[in-house]
Amino acid sequence: MTQIYDCIVVGAGPAGAAAAHTLGGSGVSTLLLERGEFPGAKNMFGGAIYREPTQIIIPNFVETAPVERNIVSDELWMMETDSAVKVGFTGLRFAEPPYNKFSVLRPRFDKWFADCAVERGAKLRNNALVRKLLYEKRPLGRRGPVTGVQLDGGEEIRSSCVILAEGVNAFLTKQAGLRGVIPAHALTLYVKEVLNLPEHKIEERFSLQPGHGAIVGMLGWSTAGIVGKAGVWTNKDSLSIIVGGYLNQIVESRLSPYHLLQRLKEHPMVKRLIQGAKVEEYMAHLIPKGGYNYQPKMFGDGVLVAGDAAVMVSGRRGTDLAMISGKLAAETVIHAKAKGDFREAMLSNYKHKLDDTFFMKDIQTRQNSLRYFKNYRDSDFLIASTANKVAYEFFSEDMATGLEKMTKLKQVVTHQQHAIKSLSDIYQAIRFWGPL
Ligand SMILES: Cc1cc2nc3c(=O)[nH]c(=O)nc-3n(C[C@H](O)[C@H](O)[C@H](O)COP(=O)(O)OP(=O)(O)OC[C@H]3O[C@@H](n4cnc5c(N)ncnc54)[C@H](O)[C@@H]3O)c2cc1C
Repeated sequence: MTQIYDCIVVGAGPAGAAAAHTLGGSGVSTLLLERGEFPGAKNMFGGAIYREPTQIIIPNFVETAPVERNIVSDELWMMETDSAVKVGFTGLRFAEPPYNKFSVLRPRFDKWFADCAVERGAKLRNNALVRKLLYEKRPLGRRGPVTGVQLDGGEEIRSSCVILAEGVNAFLTKQAGLRGVIPAHALTLYVKEVLNLPEHKIEERFSLQPGHGAIVGMLGWSTAGIVGKAGVWTNKDSLSIIVGGYLNQIVESRLSPYHLLQRLKEHPMVKRLIQGAKVEEYMAHLIPKGGYNYQPKMFGDGVLVAGDAAVMVSGRRGTDLAMISGKLAAETVIHAKAKGDFREAMLSNYKHKLDDTFFMKDIQTRQNSLRYFKNYRDSDFLIASTANKVAYEFFSEDMATGLEKMTKLKQVVTHQQHAIKSLSDIYQAIRFWGPL
């Protein structure tokens, strides 16, 4: 006999696990379907999760989640071939409750998160690739509401509604006609290696107390002319190193992402951090960077979309947006079940809830960010290169007078770019990005 659930959640990443966790505790019968061998098996990010948004879903996660390190130090390196201007902050207050953010490894974190949803009553099925959404049949071949899913192999499972938390590729969201294809200039591609290194070496190299962690973000030289970022995250006994950028630019540059990563690892300052570390894993993943203009319709008859599938990424944050959107989708379903109505009009409440969140407000404010990167493609490189040239000049202990030194510094800056153009760039950056 066909099983019927109130809700099927497709994908056990942060969005899907948060949705299943919320539904599981509310008496809504829930099936969480994950294509991987286990939740997190196929997932990758930098990365860090943030305490405040995660606590909204699992209040005691700090004590129970498999977090790697408690991040107390954030640095940004503006890089050149043989130098880096480093801006950073270390805050030991972040090492104390209530804490700020934690590095995690997705295969451990996602599995733990999905297990929490199961403890609350959701059912989890791994190795379950959803191929198709099922619809109620209407006259003249028209599609009615979503009534379930079909798995790879043909098995059909019925439900009153489906939450699509399937990540960036979002095949089902596209199938449902809710999202179009995202072009390469609105996607970034990142590659990552996890490098094993003993705990004490990590603490020595990053000047950390036991258990404390650091994140080093990198721009400029690190991406070889492609608009993007690189970075190193400290885990308990490994480092995560990533590099990437806009997909269209990676394709145009003909640089393989693997080559970009190996190039980064050869930079003298990066080499020092990772020396002796053994590669444990290599992965690649896309990020939907299109923002507001590429977000799908978030709901349809019997269906809701959450997380990366719904293009919910703001700056470097995505996991918390995924979790909160999953939770809000689940709350919409709980309300719909109470009313016995899973039609589009009822599920549209989800969009109202989303529009009220801090991240949707930010995503809307920054809706022209793609245009900014198109017009100011070289801004990161210019900033990094100017900062390094100025620093070399400033820290060169020569025989110039103070006044001569100032003149030299001004020359370095104006040689890079005319002062008026620099002022105009700063104005445009503020216009596009608004308050951070
Ligand atoms: C390099 C990189 C660094 C990042 N760093 C950070 C960071 O530091 N902090 C941060 O907050 N965010 C970061 N992000 C973003 C963050 O990882 C994503 O925003 C977040 O994982 C989105 O969660 P999700 O649940 O929507 O999607 P995903 O995490 O992609 O999960 C989707 C799940 O659905 C499953 N699935 C897909 N299709 C199907 C199907 N048809 N049937 C069954 N299962 C399916 C997948 O296997 C997967 O488990 C980073 C991303 C990348 C790529």
